[in-house]
Amino acid sequence: MMKLNELDRRLLMDRSVSGRSAINMPPSDVPEQPLPDADMLRDELPLPEVSQLEVIRYFSLLSQLNFSIDTNFYPLGSCTMKYNPKLNDAVASLPGFAAIHPNQPAEQVQGAVQLMYELQQALGDLTGLPGVSLAPLAGAQGEYAGLLIARAFHASNNDTARTVALIPDSAHGTNPASAAMAGLEVVTVPSDADGNVDVEALRSVADERTAVFMLTLPSTLGLFEPSILEITQIIHDAGGLVYADGANLNALLGLVKLGDLGFDICHSNLHKTFSTPHGGGGPGSGPVMVTEELAKFLPEPVAEKNGDTYILAEPESSIGKINAFHGSFGILVRAYTYIRAMGRDGLKAVAENAIINANYIQAQLKDRFDLAADRYCMHETVLSAGQQKKRGVKGLDIAKRLLDHGIHAPTMYFPLIVEEALMVEPTESESKETLDRFIEVMRQIDDEISSDPETVRTAPHTLPVTRLDEAAAARKPYLRWQR
Ligand SMILES: *Cc1c(COP(=O)(O)O)cnc(C)c1O
Repeated sequence: MMKLNELDRRLLMDRSVSGRSAINMPPSDVPEQPLPDADMLRDELPLPEVSQLEVIRYFSLLSQLNFSIDTNFYPLGSCTMKYNPKLNDAVASLPGFAAIHPNQPAEQVQGAVQLMYELQQALGDLTGLPGVSLAPLAGAQGEYAGLLIARAFHASNNDTARTVALIPDSAHGTNPASAAMAGLEVVTVPSDADGNVDVEALRSVADERTAVFMLTLPSTLGLFEPSILEITQIIHDAGGLVYADGANLNALLGLVKLGDLGFDICHSNLHKTFSTPHGGGGPGSGPVMVTEELAKFLPEPVAEKNGDTYILAEPESSIGKINAFHGSFGILVRAYTYIRAMGRDGLKAVAENAIINANYIQAQLKDRFDLAADRYCMHETVLSAGQQKKRGVKGLDIAKRLLDHGIHAPTMYFPLIVEEALMVEPTESESKETLDRFIEVMRQIDDEISSDPETVRTAPHTLPVTRLDEAAAARKPYLRWQR
């Protein structure tokens, strides 16, 4: 990655020269209109006055300063940064999808509603939970919708004492947050020494107050829960529902259906498992899937087929609308394209390759790094930098040093129950050559920790910016240009 000189470092506003312009406006051919009253007008409006070349250089430079899946290996565990095939974008750009308006009635946009219907079918089929709403705009919103469905189900049975969400200590932070937002009380379930749910502890807290048990599968340690059938049985025997956090379904696609394991509700992140962009790359999408019995509580709209016509319907006892319109439609098109392009066998191969890639990395690094659990992992492996910490270097430092080698940091310090956690998810997209290079770099950094720990502690050294004040960046962000 490049070093920046003084000129490169200027923000767009700092490049401004009065009178410079990026466009040539033709002479106006409409009558001039009077301006609003003077007290409604600003005296000054600082906008950058720059040439077209300057604008292009500025934004091209910014794009090169970024790490992205299109430019760098990005093994960010629990986030599934897989390649986003360009075909997805080509299809989403078709005018029939890109140029329609969400206020158009369904009969005018039958193709779009059909796509939603078929995506619902595919997600229902892949998870074994046939009731699907594509409305949620993120994984966390899918969780929230799913938990409101659980509450609505218990309320419909006059089972109002069920106000507790049981959540393992390894859970993603959004789980307890969504449960609290949905008005549930969170009770934490410990993990056992092998990183599994402590089944006896679960049995002791599952009772007539249990509304729902939320479980991530594979767990956030990248492990398959061996007692899963017993776990779902315990909760059902206590009268509760079982929620799967399926944000990352990469290890299960085409291999296991959550519904077959006894789950009642789940969500999945299209921006993780189904190759749509993350965060800055675009809006999210976290569809919610439920059993047939719970389908009447789904958030609206749900696409339905009525003879030859596709409609957007409100389920009978719907929890209502959770956002405007129909979810992140452009993202739904991308995920649908991915699913149809891969096909059933292709998706199964995705899961198999994701699992074998993670296990390859784990096997090649376990002589240098402690493992959160020394057994086969699923789509990700959680390493610990505990041994490295004894030599004076933290997991954070290793993550920063990886940046010098052009590799994005793994997820750090999550799950919270693992000391100095480095959570590595290679995904199925990566070649063996890329995995070998990552392994080589990790071993090199481990050597460096013994020979020259200071270099690792002060990394990165090759990036335009080094260590940032992350607290200030979060608390006092500069949101607009200032001199
Ligand atoms: C990413 C993730 C979520 C939350 O998804 P968002 O789209 O970021 O809200 C929830 N659970 C797990 C396990 C995740 O990895």
